[in-house]
Amino acid sequence: MIRAVTLDLDDTLWAIAPAIVRAEQRMDDWLRRHFPAVATRWSIPRLRELRDRVAAEHPELAHDFSAQRRLSLRHAFGDSLGSDHHAIDDGVEAAFVEFQHGRHEIEPYPEVLDALARIAARVPLAALTNGNADLERLRMAQHFQFSLNAREFGRAKPDAAIFHAACERLGLAPSSVLHAGDDLDADVRGAHAAGLTSAWIDRHGKIEPPAEAHLHFGCLGALADWIEANTPEQTSSPADKARGRRDDADHLRHRQGVR
Ligand SMILES: [Mg+2]
Repeated sequence: MIRAVTLDLDDTLWAIAPAIVRAEQRMDDWLRRHFPAVATRWSIPRLRELRDRVAAEHPELAHDFSAQRRLSLRHAFGDSLGSDHHAIDDGVEAAFVEFQHGRHEIEPYPEVLDALARIAARVPLAALTNGNADLERLRMAQHFQFSLNAREFGRAKPDAAIFHAACERLGLAPSSVLHAGDDLDADVRGAHAAGLTSAWIDRHGKIEPPAEAHLHFGCLGALADWIEANTPEQTSSPADKARGRRDDADHLRHRQGVR
């Protein structure tokens, strides 16, 4: 029996590539206004290459896209502004803020908001992401009990440890938790190896699902259909649930009581 769902965010709830393009453009516009010397030397494609290089040279930051981007900016600012450390620190932080604004201008896939509400009405829902999206900022946090990201946790999917940390916070064994996401390695194989039920959200439908995908859906709405068909209806309202989680033992007793 599935008693909770963990969900990937980027490319599962929205397309991330257009948001990154918008974020890069927004940061570039800002650099042109405030730090033209940086913008001239570091065009969008050059900054992208620099970020890839920083990521390759710093495997210890593989779980932290924000740190990779800040370090790339630090390099670009240092290269353009020399040794003015205060100006570099301030510029890097302000440029990163601009990037993050653009990164949060996302458009959820059409069925997503409805599907999140349907899933959350049945089982506790948590976000499990390697990215740096902020659900509060995206006004989607109300559907999620918590959001666990690789930057805070210190390890990224597909590491089993981050899946197990999410299960622990849900107060459930991995075998009772379903993880859904678009990425075959990070989400599907990672969840499978960690002992969760793995669901591949595949919007393209071009390849066969791998053996590690226990379930396979074309969109989040299809996952919501499956959850509704395979979990009992809750008698408490979403508003009751939103009032806060009981401790794990109470929570389990409550769930058993309503079943
Ligand atoms: Mg993803």
